[in-house]
Amino acid sequence: MKVPFLNLAAAYEDIKDEVMPAIEHTISESQFILGAPVQKFEEDFAAYCETGHAMGVNSGTSSLHMALLAAGIGKGDEVVTVPHTFVATVAAILYTGAKPVLVDVDPTRMTMDPAKIEAAITPRTKAILPVHLYGQPADMDPVLDIARRHGLLVIEDACQAHGARYKGRRVGSLGDMGCFSFYPGKNLGAYGEGGAVTTSNEELAERVRIFRDWGAKKRYHHDVLGFNARLEGIQGTVLALRLKRLDELNARRRAIAAIYDRELENVPLELPVAAADSEHVYHLYAVRTPRRNELLDFLKNREVYCGIHYPTPVHLQKGYARLGYGKGDFPVSEKIAAEELSLPMCPYLREDQQAFTIECIREFFAR
Ligand SMILES: *Cc1c(COP(=O)(O)O)cnc(C)c1O
Repeated sequence: MKVPFLNLAAAYEDIKDEVMPAIEHTISESQFILGAPVQKFEEDFAAYCETGHAMGVNSGTSSLHMALLAAGIGKGDEVVTVPHTFVATVAAILYTGAKPVLVDVDPTRMTMDPAKIEAAITPRTKAILPVHLYGQPADMDPVLDIARRHGLLVIEDACQAHGARYKGRRVGSLGDMGCFSFYPGKNLGAYGEGGAVTTSNEELAERVRIFRDWGAKKRYHHDVLGFNARLEGIQGTVLALRLKRLDELNARRRAIAAIYDRELENVPLELPVAAADSEHVYHLYAVRTPRRNELLDFLKNREVYCGIHYPTPVHLQKGYARLGYGKGDFPVSEKIAAEELSLPMCPYLREDQQAFTIECIREFFAR
């Protein structure tokens, strides 16, 4: 039996009959960039995230970049974020000319450790950028409290957590702005690249709309240096349809996670801890073991495909040496990078595939 890490073909089969005529309609109407299909998705997504506004952009990276620009962040400013994330979080800060200041993550939650934030704040700090990693919200109350006391903005990287809740509230609505990716493998995925910024602040919303569309509020009136970061009509069409299924698909992810939790309880693996204050949406089911590489190979030999998120923390990536950090600076992030393994997880993972995965893991530890 082959167990794929992710099954995008099954997701397509599930919605094909609905999505293909809708795409055809968008094309026949020549609604290629922004326009009615994107607007419809933006309204639906804002309502879903419980925010006043959502602005479609062309990737999760652009959502972070445009949000930071809208916040007025640039050269001379500092933004506090984490090294244990996908590089885009840190890259987007660098794109604005600002300096990313990193703080380590909490060893249990694997998201920004609030106890580490205050020591990283300087007079140049403008914003805090926590990441809701693997589908679990960061511990936001202390982050928001620190931000309020120091007059900082909070921008959420929610690229892995569409639909997750923290103390009952949706991610993307907790800080000043939320950033989402619709990369195909995310909990809400497009048929190509896509992203969105959410906010309930009208002024920030308007600034994101301007920055994503060449810095022009009115065509050919370029008041600021903007970008081409617009969401395509076909992606808006696909996303509006898939959004209707998101809660159901997230519920399936949680059910799969519950089976892993139960069946792997007695295996010497560190299982993900879902915080009681949150609703985890399991973009990834991230286990940890010092024998990670060995287990990964063992499973691969049995055609059970896993992932590593991420093998090298951002501060140890060659392209990010300019940040000035080195080995040992963020021990928790470094330990997670060495031990983390993402088990097969997607709403279309079959029961027999998951059972086989569990059987193989048990076999590995029983040898
Ligand atoms: C996927 C991802 C991004 C970037 O999104 P893209 O759509 O690939 O540009 C940013 N941050 C995190 C945490 C992500 O997982």
